Amino acid sequence: MSPDLPDSFPHAEVVVDLGAVRHNVRLLAARAAESGAATMAVVKADGYGHGAVPVAKAALEAGATWLGACSLAEALALRAAGITARVFSWLDLPEVDYAPGIVQNVDLSVSTAEQLARIAATARRVGLPARVHLKIDTGLSRSGCIPRDWPELVKAAAAEPDVEVVAIWSHLACADEPGHPSIDRQAERFRTAYEVAREAGLNPLRHIANSAAALSRPDLRFDLVRPGIAIYGLNPLPQREDLRPAMTFRSTVVLTKRIDAGESVSYGQTWTAPRDTTLALVPAGYADGVPRTLSGRMSVWLAGRRRPVVGRVCMDQLVVDCGDDEPAVGAEVILFGPGADGEPTAREWADEIGTIDYEIVTGMYRPRVPRRYLGQE
Ligand SMILES: *Cc1c(COP(=O)(O)O)cnc(C)c1O
Repeated sequence: MSPDLPDSFPHAEVVVDLGAVRHNVRLLAARAAESGAATMAVVKADGYGHGAVPVAKAALEAGATWLGACSLAEALALRAAGITARVFSWLDLPEVDYAPGIVQNVDLSVSTAEQLARIAATARRVGLPARVHLKIDTGLSRSGCIPRDWPELVKAAAAEPDVEVVAIWSHLACADEPGHPSIDRQAERFRTAYEVAREAGLNPLRHIANSAAALSRPDLRFDLVRPGIAIYGLNPLPQREDLRPAMTFRSTVVLTKRIDAGESVSYGQTWTAPRDTTLALVPAGYADGVPRTLSGRMSVWLAGRRRPVVGRVCMDQLVVDCGDDEPAVGAEVILFGPGADGEPTAREWADEIGTIDYEIVTGMYRPRVPRRYLGQE
């Protein structure tokens, strides 16, 4: 089966609740508005595995006025889908052609004088001004201009007629640990960078807050917040927030069987039935996004309760121990979901294998697993 052909009987599927996305964006946009800030919904990496275009449209319906993409290609994919809202993109190879971005009104990030010069030259060539956001590295040490080089960068940008400086921006290292001293240190450097930009004659917008800061640090919302994970309903903060996880990963029972005590299950025979029991076979495995490292450490929601997955997770399938219950062939199996009914969550998977829920949901973007949308308007 080619991944390009729709599968009428997908073994496993991702269901994305756009109503949940709208709920989350409404909440974030309302909080931002309390501080006079606009909201940029970050839809990089195909909307954290949820689908960039449907999520972007839902976010715009719910009050976001900007979209954030990683690469220019991701930004242009939003434009190709007919989205006309402001789109900001911030990471590309040095040799990228900025022309389509400038022509299609995509805001571009600038960290260096060379980048500024290339963007300005491209703007001159296409005959349109480029909209740029100058990035100050306040302590994350990824992209961005180090404070020592900042005065020169803002001066060059201010003197560049083909470039419109829309904003200055930065990104926080530890916003998900409220009270971490680096947050205030980065904020202080950001304020200083703003003063330097103003002294150079610029009057830019400011943005620094990801989801965690947008929710927990009203003072860092400035003109614009850039939530990503929270629009998908996952909470990066230790405290509770009224967010609704948008993604459910589900499959179906394809076979049940009774085995005797002493029979073993799956490759390596790592699990042996301690009693006679009923097994349910589920056609979802590591090729579908179930981490093999969850073997022996996960459960699924099946026929009204949690049941353990036994033996190794295989490429295409896994086996659930149902004890003396016999679920129907065709019964729904929830691998993870919002958690409201007691089903496992992406967060539980992440905690179990030592990662973050960002990686779990983003990793669900795979051609083998179709996505279905609820609440599409
Ligand atoms: C991914 C990203 C965000 C969103 O971060 P979350 O923690 O998902 O809210 C914001 N800004 C930049 C630059 C990013 O790369």
